[in-house]
Amino acid sequence: LVGQHPVPRATPETVLAKVRSVATAAKETTHIHTGHDGLDAYRAKGGYALLRDCAEGRRDVESVIAALEASGLRGLGGAGFPAGRKWRIVAAEPGPRLMAINIDEGEPGTFKDRVYLEHDPHRFLEGALIAAWAVGIETIYIYLRDEYHGLRGMLEAELAALRAAPPLENMPELILRRGAGAYICGEESAMIESIEGKRGMPRLRPPYVAQVGLFGRPTLEHNFETLHWVRDIVEQGPEQFASHGRHGRKGLRSFSVSGRVRDPGVKLAPAGITITELITEYCGGMQEGHQFYAYLPGGASGGILPATMGDIPLDFDTLQPYGCFIGSAAVVVLSDQDTAKAAALNTLRFFKDESCGQCTPCRAGTAKAVAIMEQPDWDIELLDDLSQVMRDASICGLGQAAPNPFDCVIKYFPHELKGGAQ
Ligand code: SF4
Repeated sequence: LVGQHPVPRATPETVLAKVRSVATAAKETTHIHTGHDGLDAYRAKGGYALLRDCAEGRRDVESVIAALEASGLRGLGGAGFPAGRKWRIVAAEPGPRLMAINIDEGEPGTFKDRVYLEHDPHRFLEGALIAAWAVGIETIYIYLRDEYHGLRGMLEAELAALRAAPPLENMPELILRRGAGAYICGEESAMIESIEGKRGMPRLRPPYVAQVGLFGRPTLEHNFETLHWVRDIVEQGPEQFASHGRHGRKGLRSFSVSGRVRDPGVKLAPAGITITELITEYCGGMQEGHQFYAYLPGGASGGILPATMGDIPLDFDTLQPYGCFIGSAAVVVLSDQDTAKAAALNTLRFFKDESCGQCTPCRAGTAKAVAIMEQPDWDIELLDDLSQVMRDASICGLGQAAPNPFDCVIKYFPHELKGGAQ
């Protein structure tokens, strides 16, 4: 998203170097990651004791769901639906019920799930098994981003270890599915289609997946990170999680920070922290020679804001009044060496490529927007029209949120639109 530098001309040496680096990367990603807590290490640190407490009656379903509700845990894939309430809704549907865990992590700039998974895979598995116990789920499908080859090897090995020494007598079946390499398969209903073996295209709702999900059954759908926190919240008490937070917000958020900061990465920070605080306190400030200029608070789809609006608390619901959202908390920091206009064009090209194509406002709208934005002078009136139609008539969040970047440029960066600058 940042650094729209001219591409250097390819020479035989650079092509060869590129081939070598791709080959090395491919080799590395087929290795099993070793830097994680395996089953024995996780058990040695008290892992799966909470699950056994639940299954053996030392915890009851109501107190576990109440703990989630009191903690304020929300869906951390981007939608932010309260986790405890989702458990109640699915539990009230007739069985058999299924679960689908989303580790597709395709939002540009998001890498938090990968980081947690590659260090501590059993924490989310225990969270999933606790959810399955509370909601009455027989089968759990794990949908893993296909690009995470190395993690797949590791997860397969850990699942095999878990099946060989299950913490429960009647452990739900755990099925690992490879993602399809498409951004849209991170959308919950498209993911479900993909798990069912179909082309990953979002479904019209209602009915919601909680009622009619995988294979037509009520389905509890969760992002990986939401389940990652279940054990800590129940074991340590909801107050512990809820005690964090700034500017009137509660809980912790895992920000995937990238761009022009000195120390990018996954930052576990209080919900409601501002971008200015995040850069200063968690990212070591801006890179040498770069001035903070703008930021994308929620990956490609969450809009773009100027540095002068750097005091807005970053959380669910706080950015909507500005036409933005936090989504999965992928924060991209731009500097005075970038332009919001170029970042917006980059995101629209991405949406154009990733649109599943089933509805016209999104399929044609993203292509049309790119064509307009590639011109030195944007046709603002036409972009406004497109934005309205795409928001009103697209089936899913991709088409509805795709106008956010150019809407923000028009609203907050009018100086970039003067004189046809790119
Ligand atoms: Fe597909 Fe775009 Fe329509 Fe979503 S909005 S269903 S991605 S065409």
